[in-house]
Amino acid sequence: MKIIIVGGVAGGATAAARIRRLMEEATVVLYEKGPYISYANCGLPYYIGGVIKDRASLLLQTPEKFDSHYHVEVKVLHEVLKVLPEEQKVIVKDLQTGETFEDSYDQLVLSPGSQPLRPPIQGIDLPGIFTLWNVPDTDRIKRFLEEKRPKNAVVVGGGFIGIEMAENLRHAGLEVTLVEMMNQVMAPFDYDMALMLHRHLRECGVQLMLETRVERFEAVKDQLSVKLSGGESLETQLVILCLGVRPQTVFLKDSGLAMNARGALVVDEHMLTNDPHIYALGDAVEVADFVSQAPTMIPLAGPANKQARIVADNLWKPGSSAYRGSQGTCIVQVFDLTAATTGHNERQLQTRGLRKGPDYDVVLIQSKSHAGYYPGSCGMTLKALCETESRKILGAQIIGYDGVDKRIDVLAAVQRLGGTLDDLQELELAYAPPYSSAKDPINMVGFVGNNQKKGLVRHVQIPEMKEGDYTLLDIRVPEEWNLGEIEGAVQIPLEQLRHRLDELDRDRHYLVFCAIGVRGYIATRILMQHGFMASNLAGGYAAYNNYSCGEEELVCRNIPVSTMMDFSEGGAALGKAPLDGKTVTLDACGLQCPGPIMQVAEAMKALEEGDYLQVSATDPGFLRDIGAWSERTGNRLIESGKVDKTIQALIQKGQPRAMVRPAEIPHNKTIVVFSGDLDKAIASLIIANGAASMGRKVTLFFTFWGLNVLRKSERVPVKKNLLERMFSAMMPRGTGKMGLSRMNFMGMGPRLIRKIMRDKNVDQVEALLEQALKQGVHLIACNMSMDLMGIREEELIDGVEMGGVASYLAEAENADTNLFI
Ligand code: FAD
Repeated sequence: MKIIIVGGVAGGATAAARIRRLMEEATVVLYEKGPYISYANCGLPYYIGGVIKDRASLLLQTPEKFDSHYHVEVKVLHEVLKVLPEEQKVIVKDLQTGETFEDSYDQLVLSPGSQPLRPPIQGIDLPGIFTLWNVPDTDRIKRFLEEKRPKNAVVVGGGFIGIEMAENLRHAGLEVTLVEMMNQVMAPFDYDMALMLHRHLRECGVQLMLETRVERFEAVKDQLSVKLSGGESLETQLVILCLGVRPQTVFLKDSGLAMNARGALVVDEHMLTNDPHIYALGDAVEVADFVSQAPTMIPLAGPANKQARIVADNLWKPGSSAYRGSQGTCIVQVFDLTAATTGHNERQLQTRGLRKGPDYDVVLIQSKSHAGYYPGSCGMTLKALCETESRKILGAQIIGYDGVDKRIDVLAAVQRLGGTLDDLQELELAYAPPYSSAKDPINMVGFVGNNQKKGLVRHVQIPEMKEGDYTLLDIRVPEEWNLGEIEGAVQIPLEQLRHRLDELDRDRHYLVFCAIGVRGYIATRILMQHGFMASNLAGGYAAYNNYSCGEEELVCRNIPVSTMMDFSEGGAALGKAPLDGKTVTLDACGLQCPGPIMQVAEAMKALEEGDYLQVSATDPGFLRDIGAWSERTGNRLIESGKVDKTIQALIQKGQPRAMVRPAEIPHNKTIVVFSGDLDKAIASLIIANGAASMGRKVTLFFTFWGLNVLRKSERVPVKKNLLERMFSAMMPRGTGKMGLSRMNFMGMGPRLIRKIMRDKNVDQVEALLEQALKQGVHLIACNMSMDLMGIREEELIDGVEMGGVASYLAEAENADTNLFI
């Protein structure tokens, strides 16, 4: 059998190798129009950026080596001009000699790939404008960089290759502007996920222009002027076009092979075209979408390689192997971040007419790459989508700093095997602290999904915030409020929530948020179990901040320009500034948000104004947090940046600013009533009533002798032991029997004071007590003292609450005045 293969890179070379392993006797001829076969096209951007140093390492095979290995006749610089299916022939042009000849086949394999789009934009052929698809393209760009040494570049298109080029040109020391027509980069991701990439690209010095179209290119002296849809223009020497691809099938136009409207070859599940002697694969074919089974085109190396094996298997034994569709699983490095996805995103589901709730469910969580206590742990955001009824996984997206690759692969595998979101709970994944957590992020997706299914928690995505009538509840610690707030949010730290539930309104629906959603879940559960309507904001403040950060802004609002990572300098130059005060160093490495900020806040307290704090941290969010925190606390961020994997910041202590905005300073009052003296009780109640009438929340905590103030005047029949009976008899029963702290004169003093109060129109203590209860003053009787002194609840006046020291402390923490009487 003679097999001809067209195309010698991902699909073609893989098919040739497998054919030989299965069919030693077959004659195999491979035509490749370019000068190289089996090269690493996925590595090309990294060679341009200097990350891959050795050009030779991209060239995985030579025709000679391939032939000696696989006994395949490889003809590079040979272009197949035409396919004649009727005659089972191809017409080939030798691009070196110009000679054209025919070759015949028993079976033909087409893997011609795709080619970059070059829309008819005016000036697109001007020098300095490149596309990147193969080794010759790479050589041209590399040569241009070396010879012209451009200072800046414009990358048009924010897909995989556009992003990789933007990053690599930054690595090569250029100023980079990325122009994207859509409102987001990386179309396989949902907008809420892509926002993280926008932010990070900007942090890494890429000027990102979204919803901007290139109108035309003009040559201006030795520069290019890129005219944009908004009217502005960018002057540059280098433009890289990354506008997508289309199948390279023009040469098959008259072959009679079935193609879709975009020129992709139509194949069956065995990768067979409508001609029984012609197979096709790779970027040039239409495949079934694994999720919807609809025809689609997914130009990726993984599918091309797998399809190549299937083609070889079917050439060996026709119909023996089938391709079951592409999920579009892919991954990209965006500077320090990794972004990966599989299956469908929410936008695709909605385009298919599916609705969140009845048709599909969303789980969005933040998790750590590995155990938080082991150094280097970083956050990642996982978004998974499943069918509401069957719980079958429809797709997933992950963005994070570390461990993203293995998580997306697990999700892709579970999806491929028809698994459900609930199955993720049961996966037993490898765990040791440097690699994961005992509950891997994948398990967490399953747990959260299952909680949602059971109605234990309801998550609200940021775009849905406006849809409901929610009252925002910020349960972060006060130090975190300085990183930014959501306007109108009620602020009660999680630690105080249980004791401050009475400040919340049971008629409202609380939308709880913390930094990333984890503590928010705990708070939501507390509220739900106390009968409140509550939901958790998915992704917490971090997600909100990404959303609210205007796309128009060239830098995110929390990051001053001076603190951007400077790649050309090889990182921040910390400590170069002449320091005229004491400098203290703080190592906050290994801590997760809000750990580093809390440590900074603590360390700052010990410094004098003008002193410096030099901080190292590994939490990636610290870079933006420290900018926001310094600005809001009146300290000065001198510089910050990344040195290797550590974030460094130098802060000068400034005029301390109130951490909490004045409007939010709690004006609550707490009074410990320890004394059982009438005058002191009167004083306590006058203060309490005064504060309550000013609208303050007032709590009186009665302990030891103070408990007598709350005793009923009449005798209450309760069981007591001898000691308790003696105690009760010796202590005054209620306010009517209480003495003065001074000048008691055997009981004359109190009568005198009551008369004076009457004469002066001051309420008696009993009236004061009644008034306090009416005004909502909390009268708390100390459980522990009651027990010690043998006082029973029945002996106390109505309206008194029982409580321990925790109840009092919870109130005191939120008060600006705390008296001990
Ligand atoms: P190709 O590998 O492109 O091979 C097609 C070959 O056919 C070409 O060499 C072409 O010259 C030759 N050819 C075409 N027409 C003819 C003809 N008439 N006669 C003779 N020869 C012909 N995918 C990923 O999954 N991950 C990545 O990280 C990734 N990064 C990429 C980065 C870059 C810069 C590029 C360009 C692509 C990247 N891809 C990536 C995509 C991936 O390389 C392709 O999906 C894959 O190579 C497709 O394989 P293929 O065999 O269909 O086409």
